[in-house]
Amino acid sequence: MIRAGATPVNPLIQGSNPASIKQTNLATALRIIRRGGASRADISRQSHLSRGGLTPIINELLSQRLIVECESVETDSGRPPVLLRLNGRYAKVISVLWIRDQVAVALVGIDGGVQYHWQHAFQGGERAQDVIDMIVAEIGRILARERDCLLLGIMAQAPGPLDARGGVILNPSNFNGWQNIPLADILTERFGLNVFLENNLVGCTVAEQHFGYGRDIPDFIYIVVDEGIGAGFVLGGQLYQGKSRQISEVGHISLDIHGEKCSCGNTGCAEMYVTVPAMCRLGLCLPATETRDWDASLLEVLRRLEHGDAACRRALEREVEYLGSLIVTLINIFDIDTVILGSSITAAREQLQAPLTRYVSERISARPMLEPHIYFSRVQRSSIIGGALRMFDLYIDGHLGTYAQLLERSETTLRAFAPQG
Ligand SMILES: [Zn+2]
Repeated sequence: MIRAGATPVNPLIQGSNPASIKQTNLATALRIIRRGGASRADISRQSHLSRGGLTPIINELLSQRLIVECESVETDSGRPPVLLRLNGRYAKVISVLWIRDQVAVALVGIDGGVQYHWQHAFQGGERAQDVIDMIVAEIGRILARERDCLLLGIMAQAPGPLDARGGVILNPSNFNGWQNIPLADILTERFGLNVFLENNLVGCTVAEQHFGYGRDIPDFIYIVVDEGIGAGFVLGGQLYQGKSRQISEVGHISLDIHGEKCSCGNTGCAEMYVTVPAMCRLGLCLPATETRDWDASLLEVLRRLEHGDAACRRALEREVEYLGSLIVTLINIFDIDTVILGSSITAAREQLQAPLTRYVSERISARPMLEPHIYFSRVQRSSIIGGALRMFDLYIDGHLGTYAQLLERSETTLRAFAPQG
């Protein structure tokens, strides 16, 4: 579990173990500041620590260069207070995204700012080793360019199933035959930085929590709908991760127990009706074996819909029914009113939002006490950005070691990869 932006923060504490209290207070101040900047008065108010008690905490974060003082906020009376913000120009994360059709490597500040972004669309025929070589080369180029900065580490993301603890990509479906790739070990050995591997839905969910409709909402469900379906849950302001740290397999919730057999062994799974290919196959009358550019196909379905195409109308209706049923099930389980849809399906926001909201509103058990809100994400590059934010969460929660250890590791790596001469 991680704590992040919308988390109700623990008050700063004073007690008998100075080292751990200091760590807790530094973390609490960072959690408040990362919500878009805060003045010393804001932090004092939210943390219940006196201004005097807060001063050494803020001074330490300033000396660590994790935060900076910046532009003042206009107020009606008196001198405007100085705003403290995260220092994304100094503290950074290397974010790696390896998905079915492309690989990307980016340098992202802890404030979520993308400072450099490289990507390669797969042409077909690449071996797993070729992709690893590309990632390693690109990270090497980033390290050679960076000077005076603190690298928290490398956050790699890939489709599931993966072994998050062991840092191994297992055997994702439609993953070009690539499987059992110990990516975290490979990158750790090469670069000596902290390396984590997560399902790419983790990054999407965390980015939504900080920059999207999930901002300041303690409980929401984020559902990705593209060639597959997956869901991330933020409960009580924290990303929920199950025991095996797999992402929730909502795509294999059975919506028709008399339906066709799914590859997972279940029957009539959501994935067989709700994915973008399933919707396009119905709308464009394509055979079940057809594969093509599904994002372009969805746009074609939406174009035909405008001209009153009956098959496309039916495809949209089925999407509302089946995706709606899935959302009703999830809302009934979690008693949550906010659902955010992400990835390819967002192209159909205009066509889906109203009928989907109506469908869900009429069927959830908690009506009329609970009014569901269904949003379509607008966050761009969410996995890449969210991956970096997630790494910063891990730092705040103490999973990356102390600041001094992190700085030493970062400097050692930067020295090793600095251009000669
Ligand atoms: Zn299934």
